[in-house]
Amino acid sequence: MTAVAGPHQRSELEQAVHAAVEQRQRFSAWPAVLRQAYHDEQEDGARQELRHQQAIGLGVTLLSSGLDWVAIPHMASQGLVLRLALIVPFALMVIVLAPRMKLWHLKLATTYTLVAFAGLVMFLASHGDPATATRYTMATSFLLGMGVLLLPYRDFELAMFAGLFTAVTIIAGLWPNPIPSFLIIEHIVLTALVAGGTLVIALRTGELRRRAFLFGLRDSFAQAELEQNVRILRELSESDVLTGLPNRRAFRSTFDSRFMHDRRGPDEAVTVMMIDLDHFKSFNDRHGHQAGDRALRAVGLCLEECFSGSRGAIARFGGEEFIAAFTSTSIHEAERTGEQVRAAIGALQVTVRHNASVPLSASIGIASTGPGAVVDLGELTARADRALYRAKREGRNRVVVSERIELRVDRLAS
Ligand code: GH3
Ligand code: MG
Ligand code: MG
Repeated sequence: MTAVAGPHQRSELEQAVHAAVEQRQRFSAWPAVLRQAYHDEQEDGARQELRHQQAIGLGVTLLSSGLDWVAIPHMASQGLVLRLALIVPFALMVIVLAPRMKLWHLKLATTYTLVAFAGLVMFLASHGDPATATRYTMATSFLLGMGVLLLPYRDFELAMFAGLFTAVTIIAGLWPNPIPSFLIIEHIVLTALVAGGTLVIALRTGELRRRAFLFGLRDSFAQAELEQNVRILRELSESDVLTGLPNRRAFRSTFDSRFMHDRRGPDEAVTVMMIDLDHFKSFNDRHGHQAGDRALRAVGLCLEECFSGSRGAIARFGGEEFIAAFTSTSIHEAERTGEQVRAAIGALQVTVRHNASVPLSASIGIASTGPGAVVDLGELTARADRALYRAKREGRNRVVVSERIELRVDRLAS
């Protein structure tokens, strides 16, 4: 099935489906692309169906030979030989080779086996008494009806099948051994009625099948569009428009899925890092809001690079603040990462008016759990925020680790 190009962009097939449904177009008025899609879908199943029908047909062909021994014993062995020579090899060929045969070859072989079987039954009927002949000719009409209703053929193929079947059974009823003329007339009338009636039903069923196909296709397009819109909405609701980084909501869910207790090694601690650009208000005042936006985007890219490849999570926390979370085996390692981030932001040059470049700096607060300890994002964030506040107070452009402050507080208290 053709993919939907975009939320408001319809593919050629999709437009054709909508037009066909809304205008209640007849099959012949469908655009070629849609007719082809219908045939492709039908023919996918047709191969398997024909194979099954051949298997059933083969059983019927052989079992019906038993009837000959009861109804026309003098012709029974000839009937069996003709079955084995004219029908069984073709049926077996279809059953065995169906997956590799062209579909129209399969249809041709199936048509042949059915018509040949019906011709054989008529030939046998011509050697029976009138009662037997009547039963045999009626059986061919029944077979024709079943064929028209069940064969996975296109409309014109069904009509051709019915015509060929009728012609061959009439010929076999007249030659080489004619059955009584009242029986041949009865056969013609019955066959015409059965062919006409079942063809009408088959064509009507085909029409309904085609409408169901249209509705199914329309539903699948609507479903694809809906899924795409949901995806877009989810992306919008989880990312920051300016930097393209995840927002707080996405950060929380990534954090939960990556860092909760049972998903990390026993020696791994989880660290949360709050990053706040220094004197950013003055930056905006001096260089303009647009330059400020460029600076935020540059910091976003820089953080993505700093944490690319790691199992870290980053987000724009709000304004000129960013947050990151990652695992480390010691507080020193976490602090080193903080220093690397600080240095990377410090190395950025933001282009402002008159093509001048201006550097940035950031203050960073870090807080970690003990290795293997239970993680509480709220608590970690609050501690990292306190460390950040300390970094600001101590002069900015530095990394402060929450545990160090707590140690100092403990030492002062004791
Ligand atoms: P400090 O070093 O203490 O953090 O000072 P600061 O000026 O960075 O902090 P403050 O909280 O006073 O100001 C934050 C500034 O960040 C104010 C606001 O104009 C700017 N800001 C927040 N969001 C955006 C944004 O999306 N684009 C731009 N250009 N500026 C923003
Ligand atoms: Mg700031
Ligand atoms: Mg701030």
